Amino acid sequence: MSRRPVAAWIARLSAIASIVLCGLVPLPADGAVAGAAPGAAPTAAPAWSIQAIRYATVPRFPLEGLMMGAPKDEVIDIAMVVWLVRGGGHAVLFDTGFHRDKWLKEFTITDYLRPDEAVAQAGVKADEITDVVISHAHWDHMGGVDLFPKAQVWIQKQEYAYYTGDAWQPGGQHGGIDPEDVAVLVRLNTEGRLHLVDGDDVEILPGIRAYTGARHTFASQYLRVDGAKPVVLASDNCYLDRNLAEHVASATFSDGDRAANLKAQARMIALAGSAERVIPGHDPRQFVRFPTEGRVARIR
Ligand SMILES: [Zn+2]
Repeated sequence: MSRRPVAAWIARLSAIASIVLCGLVPLPADGAVAGAAPGAAPTAAPAWSIQAIRYATVPRFPLEGLMMGAPKDEVIDIAMVVWLVRGGGHAVLFDTGFHRDKWLKEFTITDYLRPDEAVAQAGVKADEITDVVISHAHWDHMGGVDLFPKAQVWIQKQEYAYYTGDAWQPGGQHGGIDPEDVAVLVRLNTEGRLHLVDGDDVEILPGIRAYTGARHTFASQYLRVDGAKPVVLASDNCYLDRNLAEHVASATFSDGDRAANLKAQARMIALAGSAERVIPGHDPRQFVRFPTEGRVARIR
């Protein structure tokens, strides 16, 4: 049993106050890739493969924590996931899970395998991960960042600024943020391994772009991975397929961000070209919808 009901944790996260307004930027009319630095030599995007890797399960999670207004008694076994994107000599991990004991004690978590060991089941050793992209600073997404010793780490500039600063000042909000993760992030910065992604629609690597505006946390981001059929990795900016299908917001930084979250979900579908190619953050269906072996689903 968890020492603290998960519903209370979700309530704590969703009660967080907003400080800045959402900065949604409209899609280019044709959905074309935009934003490359003027005069920069175009770099061909590699053929990126994409895998979802399940490192744990949280059983019987209250659905109303994932879909605003869902029936109070409905629960779902949610997947705890990291995504591995490979191509052009890069092994990119989107989110890192967690490994600190305190979270394993605080929540009911089953089938846990430390994220670096789970990634090894897809054939990639921890020190072979070249890049880590952090969707947002919550413990179950950023808590494994120190497991990948050679990775360059990417996070939104405003997410870094807020959770290393104002979040811990009077009036600040830091529900779901592990101070130990914040210390790791600061150390990564001093080591020159941290890259601050400055805003919406920014290319991180050729064919991998970061987008903001869904406001799950202060400046959460999601990714589009280009290809003949682009894929959007939503992380917690959209929890479940049902959020998309039923037009229900995921948990947001403040109640006022719900409309922005719904707009962002519609934008994710436009960016991917199909709702089928938007991969929600905690949906176990990604291990049903796509060919799966053990903990690893091959999305593309
Ligand atoms: Zn989260």
